[in-house]
Amino acid sequence: MAAEPLFNRLCLIGAGLIGGSIARAAREKGGIARTVVVQTRRPETLARVKELGFADVVEADPAKAVEGCDAVILCVPVGAYAGVMERIAPHLAPGCILTDAGSTKGSVLRDLTPLLPKGVALVPAHPMAGTEHSGPDAGFASLFEGRYTILTPEPGTDPAAVEKVAELWRRLGAMVERMDAETHDKVVAIVSHLPHLIAFTICGTADDLAEETREAVLKFAASGFRDFTRIAASDVDMWRDIFLNNREALLEMLARFTEDSHALARAVRYGQAEFIEDRIRRGRRIRRGLIERKQA
Ligand code: NAP
Repeated sequence: MAAEPLFNRLCLIGAGLIGGSIARAAREKGGIARTVVVQTRRPETLARVKELGFADVVEADPAKAVEGCDAVILCVPVGAYAGVMERIAPHLAPGCILTDAGSTKGSVLRDLTPLLPKGVALVPAHPMAGTEHSGPDAGFASLFEGRYTILTPEPGTDPAAVEKVAELWRRLGAMVERMDAETHDKVVAIVSHLPHLIAFTICGTADDLAEETREAVLKFAASGFRDFTRIAASDVDMWRDIFLNNREALLEMLARFTEDSHALARAVRYGQAEFIEDRIRRGRRIRRGLIERKQA
């Protein structure tokens, strides 16, 4: 028998890959909410969400969408948070839990905390699950299964609200970890944001090559370039916002990466085979570690 729903009325602001996946999982798994309200702004997305039928209520106006809800999850690009919060803050009921799925966490505290109404708990969250696809069609109920979700509540946040958000992610199939926003932003800068920066850059570099060479790049892409193109196919708005909202940590990781890549380039230039072998072995070890943790 499905567990008693955690929430009475849950509102998802944004109905793309993440919002669409949470809504589908809530419907398929049960135990999440009695009513799921989905808000999305563009008429074409709104019409598509209605067609797909994964929400009980579909709403264009964010202020109306959050009314009477005991939990609200922001599932829009992080650069849109301040604007959305201005619209919804006066309509959040006391006792409501405000959470999110955004990929940066320092910026979320910066943009949401100043407008947080009294009696509303803010529990930021980041599911470490995703694909390069976006929009309401891209979501699927099992997206979060076996993946980590990181919670970054400020000290002093109502422990019952934190536990409810943790339980929400567990019911969605995720494993929950907690850390401070600054640590989170550093970790994701290396595991996610820097790899995307490298993928966008390498595709740009390949695209800059002369016509004849570019054709050959596309033809023989299977030798490694293909994996970068998958990452580089990600949503423009989402990734622009991530880069602009995790600037410090991303630039720090990029500086370290640049130093390390220069060291490897030096080894290549001077024929230092041992140094090169060591780097390759470390790469292999890290891949094995991921496979053992079932995160590959
Ligand atoms: P998505 O598929 O592109 O969907 C974005 C949603 O946000 C759409 O419903 C869109 O509505 C709405 N939206 C876009 N710009 C907006 C704006 N300026 N104001 C209000 N609404 C706006 O994105 P997603 O992949 O679900 O990502 C949602 C959040 O989850 C982001 O913060 C992202 O950083 C985070 N996240 C993503 C992944 C991933 O792999 N994709 C993984 C973990 C976390 P309209 O279509 O109506 O414009």
